[in-house]
Amino acid sequence: MSFVKFNLHPSLLANTTAQGYETPTPIQSQAIPVVIEGRDLLGIAKTGSGKTASFVLPILNQLLARPLGEKSRQPKVLVLVPTRELAVQVTEVFKDLSINLPKSIKSMAVYGGVSINPQMKSIYGIDILIATPGRLLDLQRSSAVDLSKVKSLVLDEADKMLNLGFKEEMQEIIELLPKKRQNMLFSATLSEQLSGINRLLLSDPTVIEIKEKVDDVELINLSGYFVSDGRKGPLLRHLIREQNMQQVLVFTSSGIKADKVAAKLTKNGIPALPIHGKKSQSARLSALEKFKAGKLQVLVATDLISRGIDISELPYVINYELPRSPKDFVHRVGRTGRASSEGLAITFVTREETHHFKVILKKMKRYIDMVDSEEMDFKP
Ligand code: AMP
Repeated sequence: MSFVKFNLHPSLLANTTAQGYETPTPIQSQAIPVVIEGRDLLGIAKTGSGKTASFVLPILNQLLARPLGEKSRQPKVLVLVPTRELAVQVTEVFKDLSINLPKSIKSMAVYGGVSINPQMKSIYGIDILIATPGRLLDLQRSSAVDLSKVKSLVLDEADKMLNLGFKEEMQEIIELLPKKRQNMLFSATLSEQLSGINRLLLSDPTVIEIKEKVDDVELINLSGYFVSDGRKGPLLRHLIREQNMQQVLVFTSSGIKADKVAAKLTKNGIPALPIHGKKSQSARLSALEKFKAGKLQVLVATDLISRGIDISELPYVINYELPRSPKDFVHRVGRTGRASSEGLAITFVTREETHHFKVILKKMKRYIDMVDSEEMDFKP
């Protein structure tokens, strides 16, 4: 099945091919026709499912079909996202799929943590605004943007927006929008809290739920090492060097630990940067971009920050510390070995954590032959 079946504008179809999208993902197959029809949509799907293109393509298709009007400070499409990283990622997808369209459709990301002035200026003439809630309200209050002409609203990673405490901001923003509009709400989970927002937003929505495929996790190569806390650093350096790992995502359980691990690696000649909630937005983004571009060998991340950032198909993921829940474990190791590329997820386990690790593996229906690092010969 190809994208042809959606009857998208030929220039959009050409852009999907240029992006290397051959077959629509399940969320795309189900969501694109619904959005094209103009119906409200509730999509339960995670990052990695292709959910972004599932709203970007039909939205661009709709904009191509109607006059864009004079340049103004009145975007026609608003996408609300929880984090700066996601704002940038979603904007990239809009831009990639807007190349060489018969009409110039302009998208832009706005988020906090950086100066507001350049954003205030650049909003003029923007058709699609991708925003974090706090910054959007600041821009609205200073009259840099007028939301009264928004025809399509997307709430992306709505569960995360609620977890980050954006509920009131979201409600305030929704009140600034025209009553008649199309709503698309995407969330990784369907929680009680979400159903409040859901009722507020969506009129008779089509609900699409994409279940995580167990098969994906079954395909990931897993290996594990018993290692004491004191020897984790040397073991990490040993594995990176011995296996000549060029792009490694390392997970720790706290930001402080992520800082320490990254600093120690760098000191030992392995370029690494930490990424976690306590880092400034610009530091997070710059580390992520370098890593994705292959210019940074190691990224050391926490679970909190790992959610919602689009890094997948990595050759190596290393759990320097075990996550608390099996869900987080699946989420972490799911970053590797997607689709055609083989990947390896390595987990460090202290003797005290053996039971906890067994519980995780049991939930995943997996078994790992553990290597005892005490028997390995590497520099302390
Ligand atoms: P998302 O879940 O929207 O963050 O997308 C995850 C990744 O899948 C992104 O890197 C997209 O570029 C990629 N992607 C989206 N749709 C497709 C598709 N139909 N075929 C191949 N890759 C895709």
